[in-house]
Amino acid sequence: MTNSRLKKLTPQFKNILRVSSKIAQKSGYNIYLVGGVVRDLLLNRPVFDLDIAVEGDAILLVKRLAEYLNKSFRKHHSFGTATLYYGNHKIDFATARQEKYPHYGALPKVRVSFLEKDLARRDFSINAMAISLNKKNYGQLIDFYGGRRDLKNGLIRILYPESFLDDPLRILRAVRFEQRFSFRVEPKTFLLMKNAIEAGALQLVHPHRLRNELILFLSEARPYRYIKRLYSLENFNFIDESVILNKNDFRFFIRAQSAIKFYKKEFKESNEIKSWVVYLAGILLNLSDEKYLEVINRFGFRKNQRDQAISIKEDLGKIKKLDHKRKASDIYKRLKSYSPEALVFFYAYFPKKNLRKNIRLFLEVLSQQKIKVKGRDLKKIGIQSSSFMGEVLKELFYRKLDKGLKTKGQELKEAKEIIKTNKS
Ligand code: ATP
Repeated sequence: MTNSRLKKLTPQFKNILRVSSKIAQKSGYNIYLVGGVVRDLLLNRPVFDLDIAVEGDAILLVKRLAEYLNKSFRKHHSFGTATLYYGNHKIDFATARQEKYPHYGALPKVRVSFLEKDLARRDFSINAMAISLNKKNYGQLIDFYGGRRDLKNGLIRILYPESFLDDPLRILRAVRFEQRFSFRVEPKTFLLMKNAIEAGALQLVHPHRLRNELILFLSEARPYRYIKRLYSLENFNFIDESVILNKNDFRFFIRAQSAIKFYKKEFKESNEIKSWVVYLAGILLNLSDEKYLEVINRFGFRKNQRDQAISIKEDLGKIKKLDHKRKASDIYKRLKSYSPEALVFFYAYFPKKNLRKNIRLFLEVLSQQKIKVKGRDLKKIGIQSSSFMGEVLKELFYRKLDKGLKTKGQELKEAKEIIKTNKS
Protein backbone atom coordinates (compact mmCIF):
# COMPACT_ATOMS: atom_id res chain seq x y z
CA MET A 1 0.00 0.00 0.00
CA THR A 2 2.87 2.36 0.72
CA ASN A 3 3.68 3.37 -2.82
CA SER A 4 0.13 3.46 -4.14
CA ARG A 5 -0.42 7.12 -3.24
CA LEU A 6 2.60 8.26 -5.19
CA LYS A 7 1.50 6.13 -8.15
CA LYS A 8 -1.21 8.70 -8.82
CA LEU A 9 1.43 11.29 -9.67
CA THR A 10 2.47 11.96 -13.26
CA PRO A 11 5.57 10.07 -14.53
CA GLN A 12 7.40 13.42 -14.51
CA PHE A 13 6.67 14.02 -10.82
CA LYS A 14 7.48 10.43 -9.93
CA ASN A 15 10.83 10.80 -11.61
CA ILE A 16 11.63 14.02 -9.74
CA LEU A 17 10.76 12.38 -6.44
CA ARG A 18 12.94 9.36 -7.15
CA VAL A 19 15.89 11.52 -8.12
CA SER A 20 15.35 13.84 -5.13
CA SER A 21 15.25 10.83 -2.85
CA LYS A 22 18.56 9.52 -4.21
CA ILE A 23 20.34 12.84 -3.98
CA ALA A 24 18.97 13.41 -0.47
CA GLN A 25 20.20 10.01 0.59
CA LYS A 26 23.67 10.74 -0.77
CA SER A 27 23.66 14.06 1.11
CA GLY A 28 22.60 12.31 4.34
CA TYR A 29 19.20 14.05 4.48
CA ASN A 30 15.68 12.74 5.00
CA ILE A 31 13.01 14.23 2.76
CA TYR A 32 9.21 14.15 2.77
CA LEU A 33 6.32 15.24 0.62
CA VAL A 34 4.27 17.49 2.92
CA GLY A 35 1.12 19.55 3.32
CA GLY A 36 -1.61 20.17 0.76
CA VAL A 37 -0.07 17.82 -1.83
CA VAL A 38 -0.46 14.86 0.52
CA ARG A 39 -4.03 15.92 1.25
CA ASP A 40 -4.82 16.19 -2.47
CA LEU A 41 -3.24 12.82 -3.23
CA LEU A 42 -5.39 11.18 -0.56
CA LEU A 43 -8.45 12.95 -1.96
CA ASN A 44 -7.58 11.83 -5.50
CA ARG A 45 -7.43 15.42 -6.61
CA PRO A 46 -5.00 16.64 -9.27
CA VAL A 47 -1.62 17.83 -8.07
CA PHE A 48 0.17 20.70 -9.81
CA ASP A 49 3.04 21.68 -7.56
CA LEU A 50 4.96 19.76 -4.94
CA ASP A 51 6.09 20.73 -1.44
CA ILE A 52 9.01 18.87 0.02
CA ALA A 53 10.37 19.17 3.56
CA VAL A 54 14.06 18.47 3.96
CA GLU A 55 15.74 17.43 7.19
CA GLY A 56 18.94 19.08 6.09
CA ASP A 57 19.98 21.97 3.87
CA ALA A 58 17.14 22.43 1.37
CA ILE A 59 19.03 24.99 -0.70
CA LEU A 60 22.06 22.75 -1.13
CA LEU A 61 19.83 19.82 -2.04
CA VAL A 62 18.00 21.81 -4.73
CA LYS A 63 21.29 23.09 -6.10
CA ARG A 64 22.50 19.51 -6.57
CA LEU A 65 19.15 18.42 -7.96
CA ALA A 66 18.98 21.30 -10.43
CA GLU A 67 22.49 20.51 -11.65
CA TYR A 68 21.63 16.85 -12.06
CA LEU A 69 18.35 17.51 -13.89
CA ASN A 70 19.69 20.53 -15.74
CA LYS A 71 16.80 22.68 -14.52
CA SER A 72 16.64 26.16 -13.09
CA PHE A 73 15.98 26.97 -9.45
CA ARG A 74 15.59 29.91 -7.13
CA LYS A 75 16.71 30.14 -3.52
CA HIS A 76 15.33 32.16 -0.62
CA HIS A 77 18.09 32.26 1.97
CA SER A 78 16.20 33.94 4.78
CA PHE A 79 13.54 31.22 4.71
CA GLY A 80 15.92 28.31 4.00
CA THR A 81 13.82 27.37 0.99
CA ALA A 82 14.41 26.82 -2.71
CA THR A 83 12.18 26.22 -5.72
CA LEU A 84 12.97 23.95 -8.62
CA TYR A 85 11.28 24.73 -11.94
CA TYR A 86 10.35 21.72 -14.01
CA GLY A 87 8.29 22.40 -17.14
CA ASN A 88 5.14 24.14 -15.96
CA HIS A 89 5.60 22.83 -12.46
CA LYS A 90 7.14 24.24 -9.32
CA ILE A 91 8.67 22.10 -6.64
CA ASP A 92 9.26 23.87 -3.35
CA PHE A 93 11.86 22.51 -0.97
CA ALA A 94 11.98 23.81 2.59
CA THR A 95 14.30 23.00 5.43
CA ALA A 96 11.99 21.27 7.94
CA ARG A 97 11.37 23.90 10.53
CA GLN A 98 9.65 25.06 13.65
CA GLU A 99 8.22 28.53 13.87
CA LYS A 100 8.28 31.03 16.69
CA TYR A 101 5.65 33.71 16.86
CA PRO A 102 7.18 36.89 18.33
CA HIS A 103 3.71 38.46 18.45
CA TYR A 104 0.34 37.61 16.97
CA GLY A 105 0.03 38.15 13.27
CA ALA A 106 3.74 38.75 12.58
CA LEU A 107 5.72 36.91 9.95
CA PRO A 108 7.24 33.75 11.37
CA LYS A 109 10.95 33.65 12.30
CA VAL A 110 12.50 30.43 11.08
CA ARG A 111 14.63 28.07 13.12
CA VAL A 112 15.92 24.71 11.92
CA SER A 113 14.34 21.56 13.39
CA PHE A 114 12.69 18.30 12.29
CA LEU A 115 9.69 16.94 10.43
CA GLU A 116 7.50 16.47 13.48
CA LYS A 117 7.96 20.06 14.53
CA ASP A 118 7.50 21.19 10.96
CA LEU A 119 4.14 19.46 10.79
CA ALA A 120 3.16 20.79 14.22
CA ARG A 121 3.28 24.39 12.96
CA ARG A 122 0.79 23.75 10.19
CA ASP A 123 -2.78 24.95 10.04
CA PHE A 124 -5.04 21.88 10.03
CA SER A 125 -4.71 18.15 10.51
CA ILE A 126 -5.63 17.52 6.87
CA ASN A 127 -2.70 19.73 5.82
CA ALA A 128 -0.25 18.30 8.35
CA MET A 129 0.50 14.92 6.83
CA ALA A 130 3.67 13.80 5.09
CA ILE A 131 4.76 10.99 2.80
CA SER A 132 8.25 9.64 3.29
CA LEU A 133 10.58 9.84 0.30
CA ASN A 134 13.34 7.96 2.05
CA LYS A 135 14.60 4.60 0.91
CA LYS A 136 13.68 2.70 4.07
CA ASN A 137 9.95 3.58 3.93
CA TYR A 138 9.43 5.28 0.56
CA GLY A 139 5.76 6.19 0.08
CA GLN A 140 4.70 5.68 3.71
CA LEU A 141 2.13 8.09 5.11
CA ILE A 142 3.16 10.00 8.25
CA ASP A 143 0.15 11.29 10.13
CA PHE A 144 0.71 12.53 13.70
CA TYR A 145 -2.56 14.45 13.99
CA GLY A 146 -5.23 12.18 12.60
CA GLY A 147 -5.33 14.00 9.28
CA ARG A 148 -6.41 10.92 7.41
CA ARG A 149 -9.34 10.33 9.74
CA ASP A 150 -10.40 13.97 9.46
CA LEU A 151 -10.15 13.77 5.71
CA LYS A 152 -12.47 10.75 5.75
CA ASN A 153 -14.92 12.51 8.05
CA GLY A 154 -14.70 15.82 6.23
CA LEU A 155 -13.40 17.85 9.17
CA ILE A 156 -11.18 20.92 9.42
CA ARG A 157 -9.35 20.67 12.73
CA ILE A 158 -6.57 22.84 14.16
CA LEU A 159 -3.60 21.22 15.85
CA TYR A 160 -3.53 23.22 19.12
CA PRO A 161 -5.89 25.68 20.83
CA GLU A 162 -3.99 28.92 20.17
CA SER A 163 -3.63 28.19 16.48
CA PHE A 164 -5.98 30.94 15.25
CA LEU A 165 -4.33 33.51 17.51
CA ASP A 166 -0.84 32.50 16.41
CA ASP A 167 -1.88 33.04 12.82
CA PRO A 168 -5.35 34.47 12.27
CA LEU A 169 -5.02 33.95 8.52
CA ARG A 170 -5.98 30.39 9.35
CA ILE A 171 -9.54 31.69 9.78
CA LEU A 172 -9.65 32.51 6.06
CA ARG A 173 -7.97 29.21 5.27
CA ALA A 174 -10.47 27.25 7.37
CA VAL A 175 -13.38 28.76 5.45
CA ARG A 176 -11.56 28.19 2.17
CA PHE A 177 -10.96 24.49 2.74
CA GLU A 178 -14.36 23.99 4.34
CA GLN A 179 -16.05 25.38 1.24
CA ARG A 180 -13.71 23.88 -1.32
CA PHE A 181 -14.13 20.33 -0.06
CA SER A 182 -17.65 20.76 1.38
CA PHE A 183 -16.19 19.86 4.79
CA ARG A 184 -17.19 21.09 8.25
CA VAL A 185 -15.10 22.98 10.75
CA GLU A 186 -14.80 20.57 13.68
CA PRO A 187 -16.90 21.90 16.65
CA LYS A 188 -14.03 22.76 19.04
CA THR A 189 -12.07 24.33 16.21
CA PHE A 190 -15.17 26.30 15.28
CA LEU A 191 -15.54 27.66 18.81
CA LEU A 192 -11.91 28.76 18.90
CA MET A 193 -12.26 30.29 15.46
CA LYS A 194 -15.34 32.28 16.57
CA ASN A 195 -13.43 33.46 19.68
CA ALA A 196 -10.51 34.61 17.56
CA ILE A 197 -12.89 36.41 15.20
CA GLU A 198 -14.65 38.13 18.08
CA ALA A 199 -11.28 39.18 19.51
CA GLY A 200 -10.61 40.91 16.17
CA ALA A 201 -7.58 38.68 15.52
CA LEU A 202 -7.67 39.17 11.76
CA GLN A 203 -7.35 42.93 12.12
CA LEU A 204 -3.91 42.41 13.69
CA VAL A 205 -2.46 40.72 10.64
CA HIS A 206 -0.22 42.76 8.36
CA PRO A 207 -2.34 43.98 5.42
CA HIS A 208 0.03 42.48 2.87
CA ARG A 209 -0.34 39.01 4.37
CA LEU A 210 -4.10 39.54 4.49
CA ARG A 211 -4.05 40.59 0.87
CA ASN A 212 -2.21 37.44 -0.21
CA GLU A 213 -4.59 35.15 1.61
CA LEU A 214 -7.61 37.11 0.41
CA ILE A 215 -6.39 36.74 -3.17
CA LEU A 216 -6.21 32.96 -2.70
CA PHE A 217 -9.64 33.00 -1.08
CA LEU A 218 -11.25 34.93 -3.93
CA SER A 219 -9.37 32.98 -6.61
CA GLU A 220 -11.19 29.75 -5.76
CA ALA A 221 -13.27 28.33 -8.61
CA ARG A 222 -16.74 29.52 -7.48
CA PRO A 223 -16.22 31.74 -4.45
CA TYR A 224 -19.83 32.89 -3.95
CA ARG A 225 -20.41 30.37 -1.15
CA TYR A 226 -17.04 31.22 0.40
CA ILE A 227 -17.85 34.93 0.48
CA LYS A 228 -21.26 34.24 1.97
CA ARG A 229 -19.81 32.03 4.68
CA LEU A 230 -17.03 34.42 5.61
CA TYR A 231 -19.46 37.33 5.69
CA SER A 232 -21.76 35.42 8.04
CA LEU A 233 -18.81 34.79 10.38
CA GLU A 234 -16.72 37.92 10.17
CA ASN A 235 -18.58 40.56 8.14
CA PHE A 236 -15.29 41.37 6.37
CA ASN A 237 -14.38 43.55 9.34
CA PHE A 238 -10.76 42.80 8.60
CA ILE A 239 -11.18 44.74 5.39
CA ASP A 240 -13.29 47.47 6.89
CA GLU A 241 -16.09 47.67 9.40
CA SER A 242 -18.28 49.49 6.92
CA VAL A 243 -18.34 46.67 4.36
CA ILE A 244 -22.01 45.80 3.96
CA LEU A 245 -23.25 43.15 1.59
CA ASN A 246 -26.91 42.83 0.72
CA LYS A 247 -28.99 40.45 -1.40
CA ASN A 248 -28.13 42.33 -4.58
CA ASP A 249 -24.42 42.02 -3.89
CA PHE A 250 -24.76 38.30 -3.43
CA ARG A 251 -26.68 38.10 -6.69
CA PHE A 252 -23.79 39.96 -8.27
CA PHE A 253 -21.32 37.34 -7.02
CA ILE A 254 -23.40 34.60 -8.60
CA ARG A 255 -23.56 36.47 -11.92
CA ALA A 256 -19.82 37.16 -11.66
CA GLN A 257 -19.17 33.42 -11.43
CA SER A 258 -21.06 32.84 -14.67
CA ALA A 259 -19.41 35.81 -16.39
CA ILE A 260 -15.93 34.58 -15.43
CA LYS A 261 -16.75 31.06 -16.60
CA PHE A 262 -17.99 32.46 -19.90
CA TYR A 263 -14.89 34.60 -20.32
CA LYS A 264 -12.52 31.74 -19.57
CA LYS A 265 -14.32 29.46 -22.02
CA GLU A 266 -14.51 31.99 -24.84
CA PHE A 267 -11.04 33.46 -24.50
CA LYS A 268 -8.89 30.50 -23.61
CA GLU A 269 -5.82 31.89 -25.35
CA SER A 270 -6.00 35.38 -23.89
CA ASN A 271 -4.31 36.35 -20.66
CA GLU A 272 -5.53 34.62 -17.53
CA ILE A 273 -8.23 36.69 -15.96
CA LYS A 274 -7.59 37.52 -12.31
CA SER A 275 -11.05 36.65 -11.08
CA TRP A 276 -10.33 37.82 -7.53
CA VAL A 277 -10.25 41.43 -8.75
CA VAL A 278 -13.90 41.11 -9.85
CA TYR A 279 -15.04 39.69 -6.51
CA LEU A 280 -12.99 42.08 -4.42
CA ALA A 281 -14.38 45.09 -6.27
CA GLY A 282 -17.84 43.64 -5.63
CA ILE A 283 -17.15 43.33 -1.90
CA LEU A 284 -15.82 46.88 -1.65
CA LEU A 285 -18.31 48.58 -3.93
CA ASN A 286 -20.62 49.91 -1.23
CA LEU A 287 -17.80 51.69 0.58
CA SER A 288 -17.51 55.45 0.24
CA ASP A 289 -15.03 56.63 -2.41
CA GLU A 290 -12.46 57.61 0.23
CA LYS A 291 -12.80 54.32 2.13
CA TYR A 292 -12.58 52.35 -1.10
CA LEU A 293 -9.33 54.08 -1.97
CA GLU A 294 -7.97 53.75 1.55
CA VAL A 295 -8.60 49.98 1.56
CA ILE A 296 -7.07 49.50 -1.90
CA ASN A 297 -3.99 51.46 -0.80
CA ARG A 298 -3.68 49.72 2.57
CA PHE A 299 -3.55 46.26 1.01
CA GLY A 300 -0.78 47.39 -1.33
CA PHE A 301 -2.03 45.88 -4.58
CA ARG A 302 0.14 46.08 -7.67
CA LYS A 303 -0.29 49.29 -9.60
CA ASN A 304 -2.31 47.85 -12.47
CA GLN A 305 -4.59 45.93 -10.12
CA ARG A 306 -5.06 49.05 -8.02
CA ASP A 307 -5.89 51.10 -11.12
CA GLN A 308 -8.32 48.48 -12.34
CA ALA A 309 -10.15 48.40 -9.02
CA ILE A 310 -10.38 52.19 -9.00
CA SER A 311 -11.64 52.49 -12.56
CA ILE A 312 -14.33 49.88 -11.89
CA LYS A 313 -15.88 52.01 -9.16
CA GLU A 314 -15.29 55.37 -10.81
CA ASP A 315 -16.67 54.43 -14.22
CA LEU A 316 -19.85 52.56 -13.34
CA GLY A 317 -21.93 55.61 -14.27
CA LYS A 318 -20.27 55.96 -17.68
CA ILE A 319 -20.69 52.29 -18.47
CA LYS A 320 -24.35 52.35 -17.48
CA LYS A 321 -24.95 54.71 -20.42
CA LEU A 322 -23.95 51.94 -22.81
CA ASP A 323 -27.36 50.40 -22.35
CA HIS A 324 -28.52 51.47 -25.79
CA LYS A 325 -27.91 50.54 -29.35
CA ARG A 326 -24.64 52.19 -30.27
CA LYS A 327 -22.35 52.50 -33.23
CA ALA A 328 -19.67 49.79 -33.08
CA SER A 329 -16.92 52.42 -32.99
CA ASP A 330 -18.59 54.15 -30.03
CA ILE A 331 -18.69 50.89 -28.11
CA TYR A 332 -15.07 50.31 -28.98
CA LYS A 333 -13.99 53.78 -27.85
CA ARG A 334 -15.89 53.44 -24.59
CA LEU A 335 -14.53 50.01 -23.65
CA LYS A 336 -11.08 49.79 -25.18
CA SER A 337 -9.13 50.94 -22.13
CA TYR A 338 -10.58 48.42 -19.66
CA SER A 339 -8.94 45.24 -18.48
CA PRO A 340 -10.80 41.92 -18.93
CA GLU A 341 -11.47 41.98 -15.17
CA ALA A 342 -13.23 45.35 -15.41
CA LEU A 343 -15.24 44.25 -18.46
CA VAL A 344 -16.31 41.07 -16.74
CA PHE A 345 -17.24 43.12 -13.69
CA PHE A 346 -19.43 45.44 -15.75
CA TYR A 347 -21.00 42.50 -17.54
CA ALA A 348 -21.93 40.88 -14.24
CA TYR A 349 -22.92 44.11 -12.54
CA PHE A 350 -25.42 45.27 -15.15
CA PRO A 351 -27.87 42.54 -16.03
CA LYS A 352 -29.33 44.85 -18.73
CA LYS A 353 -29.68 43.17 -22.09
CA ASN A 354 -28.34 45.85 -24.41
CA LEU A 355 -25.40 46.68 -22.20
CA ARG A 356 -24.39 43.06 -22.00
CA LYS A 357 -24.81 42.70 -25.75
CA ASN A 358 -22.48 45.65 -26.28
CA ILE A 359 -19.82 44.26 -23.94
CA ARG A 360 -20.00 40.89 -25.67
CA LEU A 361 -19.78 42.54 -29.07
CA PHE A 362 -16.67 44.34 -27.90
CA LEU A 363 -15.03 41.22 -26.45
CA GLU A 364 -15.96 38.79 -29.18
CA VAL A 365 -15.70 40.95 -32.28
CA LEU A 366 -14.52 44.54 -31.97
CA SER A 367 -11.47 43.97 -29.78
CA GLN A 368 -10.26 41.24 -32.18
CA GLN A 369 -10.32 43.42 -35.29
CA LYS A 370 -7.19 44.67 -37.07
CA ILE A 371 -6.93 46.77 -40.18
CA LYS A 372 -5.15 45.25 -43.14
CA VAL A 373 -3.98 48.54 -44.63
CA LYS A 374 -0.55 49.53 -43.36
CA GLY A 375 1.33 52.82 -43.22
CA ARG A 376 3.35 51.85 -46.28
CA ASP A 377 0.12 51.44 -48.29
CA LEU A 378 -0.79 55.01 -47.39
CA LYS A 379 2.69 56.21 -48.36
CA LYS A 380 2.16 54.71 -51.80
CA ILE A 381 -0.92 56.87 -52.27
CA GLY A 382 0.99 59.97 -51.27
CA ILE A 383 0.62 60.38 -47.48
CA GLN A 384 3.93 61.55 -46.02
CA SER A 385 3.15 63.13 -42.63
CA SER A 386 3.21 60.47 -39.95
CA SER A 387 0.73 62.28 -37.71
CA PHE A 388 -1.79 62.52 -40.57
CA MET A 389 -1.16 58.87 -41.35
CA GLY A 390 -1.92 58.00 -37.73
CA GLU A 391 -5.18 59.95 -37.92
CA VAL A 392 -6.23 58.24 -41.13
CA LEU A 393 -5.46 54.76 -39.78
CA LYS A 394 -7.42 55.47 -36.61
CA GLU A 395 -10.44 56.75 -38.52
CA LEU A 396 -10.15 53.83 -40.93
CA PHE A 397 -10.25 51.40 -38.03
CA TYR A 398 -13.46 52.96 -36.69
CA ARG A 399 -15.06 52.89 -40.13
CA LYS A 400 -14.05 49.26 -40.54
CA LEU A 401 -15.94 48.48 -37.32
CA ASP A 402 -19.00 50.51 -38.32
CA LYS A 403 -19.19 49.45 -41.97
CA GLY A 404 -17.88 45.90 -41.52
CA LEU A 405 -15.08 46.38 -44.11
CA LYS A 406 -13.52 43.01 -44.79
CA THR A 407 -10.96 43.12 -47.58
CA LYS A 408 -7.86 45.23 -47.95
CA GLY A 409 -9.34 46.66 -51.15
CA GLN A 410 -12.40 47.91 -49.28
CA GLU A 411 -10.18 49.44 -46.64
CA LEU A 412 -7.99 51.23 -49.19
CA LYS A 413 -11.05 52.67 -50.89
CA GLU A 414 -12.30 53.92 -47.52
CA ALA A 415 -8.86 55.34 -46.68
CA LYS A 416 -8.94 57.37 -49.90
CA GLU A 417 -12.38 58.71 -48.91
CA ILE A 418 -11.04 59.77 -45.51
CA ILE A 419 -8.04 61.47 -47.07
CA LYS A 420 -10.25 63.28 -49.60
CA THR A 421 -12.65 64.65 -46.98
CA ASN A 422 -9.81 65.64 -44.68
CA LYS A 423 -7.97 67.47 -47.41
CA SER A 424 -10.97 69.36 -48.73
P1 ATP B 1 -3.90 24.97 -2.03
O1 ATP B 1 -4.50 23.68 -2.50
O2 ATP B 1 -4.87 26.09 -1.96
O3 ATP B 1 -2.61 25.33 -2.70
P2 ATP B 1 -2.29 24.24 0.21
O4 ATP B 1 -2.72 23.52 1.44
O5 ATP B 1 -1.34 23.55 -0.68
O6 ATP B 1 -3.61 24.66 -0.52
P3 ATP B 1 -0.49 26.46 0.56
O7 ATP B 1 -0.93 27.84 0.87
O8 ATP B 1 0.27 26.19 -0.68
O9 ATP B 1 -1.82 25.65 0.65
O10 ATP B 1 0.33 25.92 1.77
C1 ATP B 1 1.00 24.68 1.77
C2 ATP B 1 0.97 24.09 3.15
O11 ATP B 1 1.61 24.98 4.07
C3 ATP B 1 -0.43 23.86 3.72
O12 ATP B 1 -0.96 22.64 3.30
C4 ATP B 1 -0.18 23.93 5.20
O13 ATP B 1 0.35 22.71 5.67
C5 ATP B 1 0.92 24.97 5.31
N1 ATP B 1 0.39 26.32 5.56
C6 ATP B 1 0.11 27.27 4.67
N2 ATP B 1 -0.33 28.40 5.26
C7 ATP B 1 -0.32 28.14 6.57
C8 ATP B 1 -0.65 28.90 7.73
N3 ATP B 1 -1.10 30.15 7.62
N4 ATP B 1 -0.48 28.32 8.93
C9 ATP B 1 -0.01 27.07 9.00
N5 ATP B 1 0.29 26.30 7.99
C10 ATP B 1 0.14 26.82 6.78
